[in-house]
Amino acid sequence: ESAFSDNIALCRASLPRNMIENSMFEEEPDVVDLAKDSTAFPTFPALDPDEVTYEPRSSRLLVRGLGENDMDDDEEDCESSARLLGMSFMNRSSAHRSNSSPYTRQAPPRSCSRPSSRTIVVCVLFLVIVASVTMVFYFLPGCTFTKAGCHKPNKTNPIEPVYPISTNGELFPWAQLRLPQSIKPLSYDLTLNPDLDKMTFTGRTVISMSILHSTNRIVFHGANLNITKATFKLGDGQASDVTILEYKPRQQLAVNFSEELKAGQYCVLTMEYSANFSNAYDGFYKSFYIDKDRNKRVLAATQFEPLSARKAFPCFDEPAFKATFLIKISRKKTYMTLSNMPKAKSTNLSNGLVQDEFEKTSVNMSTYLVAFIVADFTPNTKNVSETQVSVYSVPEKNGHTEYALTITSKLLEFYNNFFDINYPLKKLDLVAIPDFLAGAMENLGLITFRETTLLVGKESSLLEKQVVASVIAHELAHQWFGNLVTMTWWNDLWLNEGFATYMEYMSLQEVSPDLETGNLFLSVRFRALDKDALNSSHAVSTDVNTTEQVEEMFDSVSYEKGASILLMLNASFPGDQQFRKGIIEYLKQFSGLNTDTDDLWNSLTQVLSTHHMNVSQMMTSWTSQKGFPLVTVNLMGNQVTLAQEHFLLTSDNTTHTSSLWHIPVTYVNDSCSLAPECRQVFTLKNKSENVTWLKLNYKNTGFYIVDYGKDGWSALAQALFSNVGVLTHEDRASLIHNIFALSRLGRVSFLQVINLLKYVSADTETSPVTEALLQLNNIYRQLEKRQESNLASRMKNFIMSTFRNLTAKQTWEEEENVSKQELRSALLEMACNLNDENCTQQATSLFKKYMESNGTLRIPGDLQQTVFTVAGRSDETWDALFNIYVHATYDSEKRKMLKGLASTQNPQRLVQILSFGLRGSLIQTQELPLVISTMCQSFAGCLFAWDFIQENWDRLIEKFPIGSFAIQAIIKSVTSQSSTQVQAFFSGLKERGSQMRSVQEALETIKLNQRWMDRNLPTLQKWL
Ligand SMILES: [Zn+2]
Repeated sequence: ESAFSDNIALCRASLPRNMIENSMFEEEPDVVDLAKDSTAFPTFPALDPDEVTYEPRSSRLLVRGLGENDMDDDEEDCESSARLLGMSFMNRSSAHRSNSSPYTRQAPPRSCSRPSSRTIVVCVLFLVIVASVTMVFYFLPGCTFTKAGCHKPNKTNPIEPVYPISTNGELFPWAQLRLPQSIKPLSYDLTLNPDLDKMTFTGRTVISMSILHSTNRIVFHGANLNITKATFKLGDGQASDVTILEYKPRQQLAVNFSEELKAGQYCVLTMEYSANFSNAYDGFYKSFYIDKDRNKRVLAATQFEPLSARKAFPCFDEPAFKATFLIKISRKKTYMTLSNMPKAKSTNLSNGLVQDEFEKTSVNMSTYLVAFIVADFTPNTKNVSETQVSVYSVPEKNGHTEYALTITSKLLEFYNNFFDINYPLKKLDLVAIPDFLAGAMENLGLITFRETTLLVGKESSLLEKQVVASVIAHELAHQWFGNLVTMTWWNDLWLNEGFATYMEYMSLQEVSPDLETGNLFLSVRFRALDKDALNSSHAVSTDVNTTEQVEEMFDSVSYEKGASILLMLNASFPGDQQFRKGIIEYLKQFSGLNTDTDDLWNSLTQVLSTHHMNVSQMMTSWTSQKGFPLVTVNLMGNQVTLAQEHFLLTSDNTTHTSSLWHIPVTYVNDSCSLAPECRQVFTLKNKSENVTWLKLNYKNTGFYIVDYGKDGWSALAQALFSNVGVLTHEDRASLIHNIFALSRLGRVSFLQVINLLKYVSADTETSPVTEALLQLNNIYRQLEKRQESNLASRMKNFIMSTFRNLTAKQTWEEEENVSKQELRSALLEMACNLNDENCTQQATSLFKKYMESNGTLRIPGDLQQTVFTVAGRSDETWDALFNIYVHATYDSEKRKMLKGLASTQNPQRLVQILSFGLRGSLIQTQELPLVISTMCQSFAGCLFAWDFIQENWDRLIEKFPIGSFAIQAIIKSVTSQSSTQVQAFFSGLKERGSQMRSVQEALETIKLNQRWMDRNLPTLQKWL
């Protein structure tokens, strides 16, 4: 699934050879002693393991880089591995070094030669520890380590679960969220008869199952299905009627048997049912669009991920229950149908309808990937190797499908080759659905999209194509990551989404470098860091025990942090082929199966074991705990000290964690800082002169933030001030991001931030400029919210003057280059938002020309948002814009117009937009999250939005499930409000959403903003 935000990007830094990580067990900083002895290529001195000494008194790893007697390669391999495996802990306590770690979960992948006495000492120590731990567990009661502690055993009532009551009053035979494992579905035979006039459908589902363990019950899922008849057949026996029990709170159905079903038998359950189409955007839902003759056209489509297949047919609705599907759908003759597989045949029915039957799926798949559509769409088709690729849209938009078809063909060829596994089906359909909430959904063979994420006009700019290409690249990657190999349970959703997000940037860099997705990926990683810094964040792989928690997994941690740590891993190998080899191995090993995070790391560890790192150990430290490290650098003459701690933004000063990560630390310095070859990892193989400054995390491929200390920051600021080009633009952007984050953490003063920003007016590249703009704008908005109008206007002047020269250089003509478009749109949007007269005049006159041209003049794609926002803010042009909006057909332009309309400060109009959106008339309900977040860009607008959210909460959660991406976006918008208001409202909601993580995030963010302002207002007063 692809969440809809306007994002995309990637920058590949090449090759680390060795890397040293701060050990999981090493809490003290490593001290690196730099030698003066220089070489032709002056960098850090070699880390000669024999020169490593351990000082128990200070508990520090002291490395003296004399590097005179280098070890041969093999020896070095062993030493590096030991370090990587976290051996410094052992070293410190025993003053010995060893060649393997007791902390690896599997046997060491390759043996280092010469098992030494040190190894033996370590092994003995390890055995002693294991024995002690075992004894502790043996003698302690089992509940010692549980949260609840020991309860007195209740002898009269042994561990019999408390079963809930079914709707018919009988006991429901299952008491858990997850289904029992005793029955495995093998195949489904689905017949669906949708009635688009009556908003209802009937269905017949035949499930063939295998009994894995003897049992008295079959438990599966069904929601809002009215089951009219059910029969059961065991083996070759006779089918007989059975009663289906239902437990609504968990959306579970069950059949009880008086006699045990024996393991090894087969059975068939057949159910007939009727149901209403879903009113929301999930399940089997009815939708409509207005065609060019203003006629209402109805269609029906599905969106099952994560938990809604059960709303369309009874099934075992968990990703691990993979099966085959044979689907039949009836339709009126004027409609067409689509499903995962190619159509096998069509039969005329006696009632005048036609029944389409699709081929049985050739692979096992999870229920959430099943899809079907009844509509009047038309295709645009092309053959790509063995696969027929079609892009479907409503008939009048068929001219907008060409780009999607072209880029899909290229991407399909790329993935077939990259994964060394061909896409498994003979056809691949991509369908633009007029009313669709997610960005897109990767159903096997039938990918569904919003119109915005699939359709682009012929004259559309590259920036608009970038959105479409990215979403397609993401969904296509899912055909392997997700569809072929699927996570066992939603706790590991990142295996789907992190990979698809990473592959979307990676594939487009190869397939369409002109789209320049690098800047976007960089900013996506910054935002992922921001969110993961909060105390309310969660581990990439985390417990999921309720349906709301399942929905909440679709967040930036699963998507963007997942992608970021994969980039970090890939960047840890020389070249791209190692990582690729690893994931090919993983995909082949688990093809058609389900996996968890450990399976991935183990699989990669096997393939990549010849390198100086244990993938499993390193990556588990990134997936099993929330947050990320803050690396503190201290450069003292020729000594570098590195330390790590949890970068945790918290309004509660007492919260501390002892989390540690295996960090592949990279760096460049003043002697060489731009080319990929300059990049070094902390293996310290080279000798070095004193360095003036260091920049860690080359091109920001690592998921951590760096603090250089007061002197380190000022040296970097000075270096940039003298010469902007001394660092890559990614590194400049990363410095800007990091220093603002550190200011929020309270680690650097705002004066240090200002000191770094002095250089920014000389920067002309997109990523550092847009990052600085975003951070400064954030402060401006907080000042506005605090009604510090004097300070706010001084802040505005500062922003304008910092970027005056660069803004003045921007044109209002068509621009070809993507990153120039990104830069221009950010600068002009800023200038117009801050009411820069020159900007608003240009925008207004362009809008007038656009109106007068009657749609023949095109506003350059990257400028549309600026122009429509200026038009929407003005009372004179708002009605005109609204009129154009209502008649516009091209979805991507429409969204920009809608954002413009929602930027108005006129209360009546704000209310009007919100109520149109809620009703779904003129403004589609799917756009409400966009409308609300746009309104919340301004303080006054957000007050209306906030009232609206509170008044209409129940209607909102009817449309957008609690915890879903849409609700997350809506809640995120309300951070302009005071924390007491937000807290009061959400805590009153109880089961209607009070437990959502996004509420906690919003509250934390509000408090953190307040705290930052309280601390920095005096500085701002003085400085501005
Ligand atoms: Zn996805």
